Amino acid sequence: MSNQGKKLEIEKADVSPVCPHCERKVEKLIEISRGFFAVNRVFCCPHCHKILGMAAGQ
Ligand SMILES: [Zn+2]
Repeated sequence: MSNQGKKLEIEKADVSPVCPHCERKVEKLIEISRGFFAVNRVFCCPHCHKILGMAAGQ
């Protein structure tokens, strides 16, 4: 089984994402790779270090 044929529409915009916690521009994310977080990929804000998102491993 595959998900081919299911197209996700992505609109590109020339804006910088802003951290919802500290409201500073986030031009890059920090990926945590230790301990529990090594199992899943955890991304956090480079300014306040709060977690912005997670993704399943691999
Ligand atoms: Zn932040």
